[in-house]
Amino acid sequence: MKRYTLLQCFTVFITFVLISIFFSSEDVSAKVQIVASLPDLGAIAQEIGGDKVDVMSLAKGYQDPHFVDAKPTYVTKLNKADLLIYNGLDLEIGWLPPLITGSRNSKITSTDALGRLDASTYIPQVLEVPTTQIDRSMGDIHPKGNPHYLLDPRNGIYVAGGITARLKEIDPENASYYEENYKKFADHLNQKIKEWDGELAPYKGTEIVSYHKNLEYLSDWAGFKEVGFIEPKPGIPPTPSHVAELIKKMKSMDVKLVIASNYYPQKTGSLVADQSGAVFLSIPTSVGGQDGINTYADLFDVIVGDITSALKNETGETNHSASKAGG
Ligand SMILES: [Zn+2]
Repeated sequence: MKRYTLLQCFTVFITFVLISIFFSSEDVSAKVQIVASLPDLGAIAQEIGGDKVDVMSLAKGYQDPHFVDAKPTYVTKLNKADLLIYNGLDLEIGWLPPLITGSRNSKITSTDALGRLDASTYIPQVLEVPTTQIDRSMGDIHPKGNPHYLLDPRNGIYVAGGITARLKEIDPENASYYEENYKKFADHLNQKIKEWDGELAPYKGTEIVSYHKNLEYLSDWAGFKEVGFIEPKPGIPPTPSHVAELIKKMKSMDVKLVIASNYYPQKTGSLVADQSGAVFLSIPTSVGGQDGINTYADLFDVIVGDITSALKNETGETNHSASKAGG
């Protein structure tokens, strides 16, 4: 009777190890590979996709989403993507299209591909759609209307719905899983929106100035009035004459708050605030824009918290604390 040598036993063992590694890596690649242009979209996709998806976000939360460095590693990621989720309305036009072309991935190259999701098509209303043709060469970077719709949390729910529907098409086996996750996401966010609404309620009608026109949806939701911008046009850096004009206007209107995303130059924002007697507030406007903001809901916890505490200090603790809703 043949006896197995130690070497033969070892070979069999190694073969089993290799086979198990092969199958476990098969499991990993069976997950839906999602690439999101922005971290907010990536965070929403992660909540819907759970452990059935791998998500990678290209832009970081501390970067201006209009201008992102197109790294070569992004092309590799896009090459393997089953689904690309992007903001649309030309927000990423300066950096995403060449990456998509470079990916040579037929799942995402055509605009009507199953693996390509323009999240803007799911929101009910695009704000500031120009009535005349806007030429990007003139510097305005919002030619298709205001693209910063993710700063209204209600839009996050619409986008989550779009992502859910698409994941169900791409991966029908897990359709009910995605549906359940969507329900959890929407229920939680709706609950949070009620809380935030309560916190913001005392400040409805507050006049604010922002650096870039990226807070329109936030203001639309929170009931703020945007009365001026540090950029003369979206994407055009401020000139001294524009800044002087803005300060004059703010003084005459007694504007109390200047807000800028934390990736904009902080110096101009705080100068405008100082000179006009307002408070300057730098806020994260995306998931990952500050430590501790890991989910879409985290983002609004911080934004609402930052704005309400700035306004509370500005308008006097006693005036508003009584009407502040519990969290
Ligand atoms: Zn913008």
